[in-house]
Amino acid sequence: MSDCLFCKIINKKVPADIIYEDDKFIGFKDINPKAPLHLLIVPKKHIPSIDHLELQDKELIGELFLTAQKIARAKGVAKTGYKLVFNVGRGGGQVIDHLHLHLLAGWKDEKERDVPGMP
Ligand code: AMP
Ligand code: ZN
Repeated sequence: MSDCLFCKIINKKVPADIIYEDDKFIGFKDINPKAPLHLLIVPKKHIPSIDHLELQDKELIGELFLTAQKIARAKGVAKTGYKLVFNVGRGGGQVIDHLHLHLLAGWKDEKERDVPGMP
């Protein structure tokens, strides 16, 4: 866990462009954005992936979605729409082993949005 990049961002040991924070979650801009707005919403609890969730995490995961909804509204993309993506495991494209929800939005039109290889 001490080696985990997102834990370091949560603990302010590594800088990030933080756009949201409360006692359970942090939201920051993805360093390599795949959409005009690309945010990562991260529980402060170190859970490696969706595959590592336990029953006791069910409330936290529900709150993660409500936090995504809140951030989408605050960023002004709730009306136009957005994507929420979890990559799970290496085969699913996950490279950071600390559970995170991608929030992607802000495309001008569908053509810009539907790029092959993008979530
Ligand atoms: P995933 O492939 O689902 O594990 O997503 C990890 C995401 O973290 C990628 O989209 C990266 O661009 C992003 N990322 C990696 N390092 C940083 C960082 N230091 N600050 C912000 N985002 C990062
Ligand atoms: Zn972590």
